[in-house]
Formats: sequence, structure tokens, C-alpha cells
Amino acid sequence: MARIPQHFIDEIVARTDIIEVIGSRVQLKKAGREYKACCPFHDEKTPSFWVSVDKQFYHCFGCGAHGTVLGFVMEYDHLGFIEAVEDLAARAGLEVPRESGAAAGPANPHDELYVAMERTALSSASA
Ligand SMILES: [Zn+2]
Repeated sequence: MARIPQHFIDEIVARTDIIEVIGSRVQLKKAGREYKACCPFHDEKTPSFWVSVDKQFYHCFGCGAHGTVLGFVMEYDHLGFIEAVEDLAARAGLEVPRESGAAAGPANPHDELYVAMERTALSSASA
């Protein structure tokens, strides 16, 4: 499976408005600097699901659900990690770079890891 670079995941999380993404799926109420809602991951009548704009994560005091916007999309939409990254990348207008994979080739051919891997592949092929 192609690996997605960690810095890209960080960038997606940083560029995605967690309130917009969660707010499009859950009815959020503004509470001071944060937002709260009835938790979508367990059954409840009083909101214990909080979303922090500053920290860019959600936390439920009821069931302990906790994570970034990426984790939320995975949990809520039942997506795999790659699918969730692609979904958020598309929203942010970013293209998902791949560190390996035959289809499109490397996003950045000067990537050191890629060059090292290519050298290894070449030397093992000629041996
Ligand atoms: Zn919960």
C-alpha cells in the first residue's frame, strides 16, 4: 500500500476547518470558544461531545471518543485511513502525494527516500 507522508497528513488537518466538517454532519452549538453537540458515537440526550477550534480536535466526555478531524471522518463515515485522507485532501484542494506506487510515480522525484529506494531496486536488479 502506498504510504502517505506524515507532513501531508499534518497539513491536511491544519488546513481543514474541523467545525465545518463536523458541523456538516452533527448539529454543533457554540459554547464560548468551543462547540458542543450530542455525541454521534454514542446515544445521549445532553451534549458531552466537544469540538475545540484552537486545538483542532474533538472529545467526548461520555464515551471517550477523541481525535482530529481525520479521525472523525474515519469514524463517522466509516472510511479507511487512505479514503479519509483523500476525502479531506479533496476538500482542501490538495493532491495526495504517494511515497510509492506504480500508477502515477512519485509526486516528487527528488525525494531522498524515493531515490534511495530506486537505487536499491536498480542494484538488486543487476545483481
Ligand atoms: Zn460519545
